[in-house]
Amino acid sequence: MSWLTNFVRPKLQALVRRAEVPENLWDKCTQCGQMIFHRELEAALRVCPHCGYHMRLATARRLELLFDEGKYNRIELPKSEPDPLKFRDTKRYTDRLREAQAKTSEQDAIVVAHGTIGGLATVVAAFNFDFMGGSMGAAVGDGLIAAARLAVIQEAPLIVIPASGGARMQEGIISLMQMPRTIIAVDEVKEAGLPYIVLLTDPTTGGVSASFAMLGDIAIAEPGAVIGFAGARVIEETIREKLPEGFQRAEYLRDHGMVDMVVPRAELRETLIRIIDLLRHPTPPAEVIALPVTAGGNTYAQPRIE
Ligand SMILES: [Zn+2]
Repeated sequence: MSWLTNFVRPKLQALVRRAEVPENLWDKCTQCGQMIFHRELEAALRVCPHCGYHMRLATARRLELLFDEGKYNRIELPKSEPDPLKFRDTKRYTDRLREAQAKTSEQDAIVVAHGTIGGLATVVAAFNFDFMGGSMGAAVGDGLIAAARLAVIQEAPLIVIPASGGARMQEGIISLMQMPRTIIAVDEVKEAGLPYIVLLTDPTTGGVSASFAMLGDIAIAEPGAVIGFAGARVIEETIREKLPEGFQRAEYLRDHGMVDMVVPRAELRETLIRIIDLLRHPTPPAEVIALPVTAGGNTYAQPRIE
């Protein structure tokens, strides 16, 4: 037996494992089903080269993509009460939290970072969908408040990037209270006259879409992102009607005036630089030249130059 278990089995396992490796080098597009070489997919920022489908992007990678030279500093977030309701379903909420923390090496579903984007100081709060579906509990609310206050202190624009299924049900009413809390937080940024930009990624749903996520001065969305409050199937069952094609997708929301622009991932950074620059430097870079007072017999008002 020992020869079999100590020698033959490891050899067999090694053979099987070797066969598995090439499979792991390929990813399958969930939209078109095409196989994509893993490295190629990463180089394309996890956008399918065949159909343009935008797959979910890890929080750290997203921050790297936006900040100048991929460099940013994270701030430590306040510690929230971990399980205010002592909630338990099939598992204890504290256990679920611990599992999510072990899986993501993060305290909760939000990361707050600051650095420069296009040379201008900017604060970014990004959701981590891998942490309990990016759900919003008190810790996420605290994170957004910290981000808003940091933006005010630094006189910097605030960019929030939701990727969330909505409220965190394990925190009941406390998670719902994060909706008004986060609205007040982004209002502080607006009152300070600073730009508040939202970058809606897949998915932005539930209580998140019903609060701060829809209040951006400029609302940008990634192509194909699901953005809405209740799920499409729930709505269909409630109203007993077939929903239109592309319902709750970024492009549909843009066409119906809920989103300002749909921007492919590769163009996000340049777009944000342009918007921030425009909002922070509203004066034209060129000198204003006086028009001739009369032209073609018509008299024009002389523009005043200071
Ligand atoms: Zn595809």
